[in-house]
Amino acid sequence: MQYSAMQKRVILTLWLLLFPSILYVSIHYFPLGKLDWFDIGFNLVVYALIMMLPVRLNSVSLSLDRWVLFYVFFHYGLVVEFLFIQFGVFLLLFSDRSSTSKVMRFAGNSAIFAIVSLTSAAVYYAVGGTVGEPSVGRLALFGFLYASTYSVMNNLLLLAYFKFVKYKAIEFWDSAVKDYIITILLLPFAMTLCFLTALLDNKSFLLIGIPFILVLLITRRYVQSEGLHDVLTSATAIGHQLAKNLRVEDVMDTFISKLKTVIPYENAYIIDLRKDKLVMLRVVEAGQIVEKAELFTCPDWLIAGNGLDTEATCVYSNRKMMSKLEQYHFAPAIQSVMTTPILRGSKTEGFLILTASSRYIFTELHTKMIGVLAGYLIASIDKAMYFEKTVEKSERCGLTGLHNFRYLERKMDEEMIRYHTKDISQVSVIILDIDHFKSINDSYGHQSGNDLLCAFAELLKSHLAHGATLTRYGGEEFVMLLPNVDKQQAYKIAESIRMEVMATNFRIIPDLTADRQAIQVQMTISAGVASIPSDANDAKDLLRKADRALYIGGKQAGRNRVGVYEETQFNTVV
Ligand code: GH3
Ligand code: MG
Ligand code: MG
Repeated sequence: MQYSAMQKRVILTLWLLLFPSILYVSIHYFPLGKLDWFDIGFNLVVYALIMMLPVRLNSVSLSLDRWVLFYVFFHYGLVVEFLFIQFGVFLLLFSDRSSTSKVMRFAGNSAIFAIVSLTSAAVYYAVGGTVGEPSVGRLALFGFLYASTYSVMNNLLLLAYFKFVKYKAIEFWDSAVKDYIITILLLPFAMTLCFLTALLDNKSFLLIGIPFILVLLITRRYVQSEGLHDVLTSATAIGHQLAKNLRVEDVMDTFISKLKTVIPYENAYIIDLRKDKLVMLRVVEAGQIVEKAELFTCPDWLIAGNGLDTEATCVYSNRKMMSKLEQYHFAPAIQSVMTTPILRGSKTEGFLILTASSRYIFTELHTKMIGVLAGYLIASIDKAMYFEKTVEKSERCGLTGLHNFRYLERKMDEEMIRYHTKDISQVSVIILDIDHFKSINDSYGHQSGNDLLCAFAELLKSHLAHGATLTRYGGEEFVMLLPNVDKQQAYKIAESIRMEVMATNFRIIPDLTADRQAIQVQMTISAGVASIPSDANDAKDLLRKADRALYIGGKQAGRNRVGVYEETQFNTVV
């Protein structure tokens, strides 16, 4: 929380006015019981210990210390309770991990609790309560009113304070209700201690204070293991989600978005170390996937790890700790950083860097979780990479290295979607077929035939326009898919290929002759051209029409020519 100068002035002035005057009033105008310094001292220790052992319930941290305050109030009077709670506020400054300045936090809380102590004490005495109240029934009733005022006043003042400093508290009313319930539930402890002290003098804390702390310690361990259980359950769920993705990009996107549900990061960077230069694979800033990191820069990576721990997750919880990462630059707002090595086997291949603008935001549970998740991430990336490689392999022709018919089908579907979404306005296709290729095989052998197919594939590549797809359709037939190219332009491309093939001397070493001397051969090709929308409406029809144009306008018309599909001609000629 950042305060403006005006807010600071108002809070400090209020504190300077309230603290001494309420202290004065509580000493001079409120009753005081007989002080037993041993009992007070021990209860102060019990109070401080309980305060230092908050229990986390879901996301809310609960301190179960209030009943000790109530006990000292019922037993000794307002001034002792006042000093206890003020000591508590002071103590919290050192355990609370807020980034707000300590002075302002103390002044704000101290002023709030001074008013809370005063008003609830006033209610208690107004309804008839006394110091060392001997009747159980009366103490229960007055105590209930006292405790209710305590919690309600506390939350109302807190709300007013948040409004004043323009702080948006998350789930305020939810935690206010929880605070009230816990306060009332703890009241019997305070009452029991009162009556026990009447019986046992100052040894009563042995029967309540110490057992309470022991139970608290056990509860905390239980809650912790529950927390770890929750963490592992969600990590496994995320692992399953990751494993469903078959593309590396999708794995990373899923990882980043799911991670958000379990770790309160604001910015995330997935860094690849495998090249000799650093590559940021994913950058998420303020919850959005972006191209370039604005809130984090690092030097070009030369030595793997450069100052980052390559074996374990590290957390840097404030600017001072972050200064250890001297090669890296974080935006001034960043207060917490967590770095996790991404390991393949025992080799660090990358890093996941998470940052946030609150201090001490990443906990031990988060570190454990990220360790498990980084393992799932790399396993899913490996699987996706294997899948992508397999798909890539299955979509290539083993001879020419060009894409094959399976790839063409997928690509055609994609282009059709682009056409229907008006991303492109037309699609043309050229089918090319080598003339009398069978006789080339027969004359020079299949190996030479293969060499010619490869040479033709290379020639075709040199005619490939940007965005076009070239595939080996089958045997000695090839297809060029041309998005946003009209029939006339496609015809020109086909013509220039035909002319170049005709003018080329292909060098082959025939298998069938004994001397195996390299020779030059010529060949020709025929082609067929068709387009969407002029000739066809869908991908299959487009290929069929281009094939027809090849057959009728190319082959039937005498070969070494380009047939352009014409509805009137080709639909009637068989
Ligand atoms: P057309 O002018 O009518 O196209 O005659 P063509 O001989 O080229 O056509 P046809 O369809 O009769 O024969 C195609 C030949 O292509 C038959 C086959 O032996 C050959 N072929 C198909 N795939 C390959 C291959 O991968 N390598 C080699 N060397 N030949 C192939
Ligand atoms: Mg042929
Ligand atoms: Mg053929």
